[in-house]
Amino acid sequence: MLTKTIYILVDCIAIINILFLLKAMKNNSEYFAKWLSYALKTAIVAILANIFVACSFNKISAGISYSLYFSSIDWIIYCLTAFCLVYTNHRRFSKRLAMPTMIIMVIDSVSIFLNLLFDHVFYIFETKDASGVTFYRTGFRPLYYFHLAVDYIPLAFVLFLFIYRMFKSYSMYRIKYIGILSVLIFVIVLNIIYMTAGLLLDASVIFYSVAGTLVYFCISTFVPRSLMSVSVGSATDNMNEGLILFDLNNNCIYANTFSKERFDVDEKTYNFKSEPIATVVNTLRSKGHEYGTHHYIHTVSSNGVITEEHYNIRYSELTDKKGRTIGSYFLIEDTTEDVRYLREIQEAKNIADAANSAKSTFLANMSHEIRTPLNSILGLNEMILRTAEDPQIMEYSESIRSSGNALLGIINDILDFSKIEANKMDIRPTDYNPHDLLRECYNYFHQMAEGKDLYYKITCDENMPSVLNGDNNLIRQIMSNLISNAIKYTKTGGVSVNVSCSKSNEKNTDLLINISDTGIGIDSKDIDTLFDSFMRVDEKENYTIQGTGLGLSITKDLIKLMNGNIIVESSPGVGSTFRVSIPQKVKDKTPLGKFRIHDDKKPEHVYRESFHAPTAHILIVDDIKVNLTVIKALLKKTELKIDTASGGDEAIELCKKYRYDVILLDHRMPAPDGIETFVSISSEGLNTLTPVVMLTANALIGMDVEYAELGFSAYLTKPIQSAELEKTLIDLLPAEKVELTEPE
Ligand code: ADP
Repeated sequence: MLTKTIYILVDCIAIINILFLLKAMKNNSEYFAKWLSYALKTAIVAILANIFVACSFNKISAGISYSLYFSSIDWIIYCLTAFCLVYTNHRRFSKRLAMPTMIIMVIDSVSIFLNLLFDHVFYIFETKDASGVTFYRTGFRPLYYFHLAVDYIPLAFVLFLFIYRMFKSYSMYRIKYIGILSVLIFVIVLNIIYMTAGLLLDASVIFYSVAGTLVYFCISTFVPRSLMSVSVGSATDNMNEGLILFDLNNNCIYANTFSKERFDVDEKTYNFKSEPIATVVNTLRSKGHEYGTHHYIHTVSSNGVITEEHYNIRYSELTDKKGRTIGSYFLIEDTTEDVRYLREIQEAKNIADAANSAKSTFLANMSHEIRTPLNSILGLNEMILRTAEDPQIMEYSESIRSSGNALLGIINDILDFSKIEANKMDIRPTDYNPHDLLRECYNYFHQMAEGKDLYYKITCDENMPSVLNGDNNLIRQIMSNLISNAIKYTKTGGVSVNVSCSKSNEKNTDLLINISDTGIGIDSKDIDTLFDSFMRVDEKENYTIQGTGLGLSITKDLIKLMNGNIIVESSPGVGSTFRVSIPQKVKDKTPLGKFRIHDDKKPEHVYRESFHAPTAHILIVDDIKVNLTVIKALLKKTELKIDTASGGDEAIELCKKYRYDVILLDHRMPAPDGIETFVSISSEGLNTLTPVVMLTANALIGMDVEYAELGFSAYLTKPIQSAELEKTLIDLLPAEKVELTEPE
């Protein structure tokens, strides 16, 4: 009785185990899991049938229980075969086999149940154990072997399939087949043991539960996990980085192919004293870091040629899911190419910097070389304009002036361009009245427009603020570029300029400048490159029109510098409109009122000195005689007392004799140059209170700051403009010696 009780108990435990398995598998939505759960459910029926066998009280009840048991084995095998086929990715195969196998299983099951009537598969006989307890066992008829075949042929087929798959599949998948195969063999072996051992009760059913557990373990944890470790191993071996893993005792547990190839790492002998990791760890520790990244240079010599390899080696700790340290790892990244690339970039940058500084020097020299003769040309031409009376000569002279000014414009453009490129263009905001700005723009260009028979209209919103704060010089430059282009590229019709302000808050506004012309227009395909440096549209067609292709590029950069914006609307043959908006501060928001053009421009050739200073005494120093002549001539009408010196030494001697009111000193002279002369004069304590003005043809970046730092009171760039020269002198000469002339 005890045997039966233990047996029933174990069967119950097996059922409970299967129920747990079924619960665990509930969330597994994979198709093969469905078949495994069917197999397990059928196994429950088989185990229950087995319990009924143990509890049978006569041959009929034992017969019914055995029939249920044998036929449920059929359906376990059916479900198991389906599971195996699906699991090994033979779904199409399993679909084809499903129907014939099911028919065979149904025939076998029906035949087993008919055994109750015909006894043709097995018969029941009674036997007793040593303590006299009755057991019902089965004896087999020949047809039983059909039942066995129905069970074992599909099993054998599945076994064969697994073995075949095992050899054919990639090594990393092999493990999954080995796992399931072992379980199947385990079940078959137990079944054979039962059949040959002649036990009183069939104990093999409980192993269905064990087998189910093993299969479940295989598909849910063991197989994916081993798959993962195999795949991770294979992936890291194919990595372009090195990976070396250490356990907590610093024993090397893994090194991928990269590490082995580059650093001869052998897992058995590799440790923290081996290179390159020894250097990495020691360097990090010397800097007080436990982990981190180190740049390691590996010198390799091959065929007598020594090369450097660069690696970034990261040393980190390895942690488990709970964050506990379980070892450490080194990740080795080859940065040789990056380092080479960076060096190349650095070299290219050095070359570019050198070229750029050569360009700046060249620009400085070119500016100097062009401005010096231009100074003489424009200066002497000014003298002709002031003195000539013959209208023909005055016309020629006027042409010299306008060509000279055009040349000066080009030089200024090139200089502006280089200033912007070197980020040396500063914004110098001042308060200004927009009408003044517009009048200047009118005066600069109205003659140019008249010369081409074009109308030139300037309008302005009466209600815009009367005083704005911003860099009016840069705005004037922007407007000049756009207006001169508009006139340049217009043959008939004319140019209109409109200025207004967007309605913004009390303190800030956007100055809106629209410049429209009825000129040749710009093709839409050229609009994108319009603002690129040195780009001219229709170069061939416009070659008669003077230009460098720098104007719009400078304009756009200046606008960007002031956080503004420019857009172009244009249609070829109709005209163009350039719309500019520049943020400005509002200083006085009272409405500006009507704009009236006072033509401030006196006829060019009518010169009138702005002051007289007969008692003032100045010194002009320049090594080029013609420059001295020009400046002296320009200042003739001011009645200033002028001394000239053609070199630094002569100037120093003169300074020993006289105390000048102002000294005008050329920069580039044979030794001593302007700066050296200035230093000598100051250090000898001569004319210490006299303002010194630097005369220079070098209008390059940052010179104003440089001269101011040296102690010069002002600087004038060549070609010297008469008005600017006089203004500087009015500012610097002692006020009591200057008598301003009334404007005419
Ligand atoms: P450029 O010194 O050649 O005038 P810009 O940079 O000022 O150089 O202008 C670039 C090109 O844009 C010019 O060559 C011209 O073809 C075109 N362009 C500029 N303004 C106008 C305009 N108002 N109408 C037609 N074309 C223009």
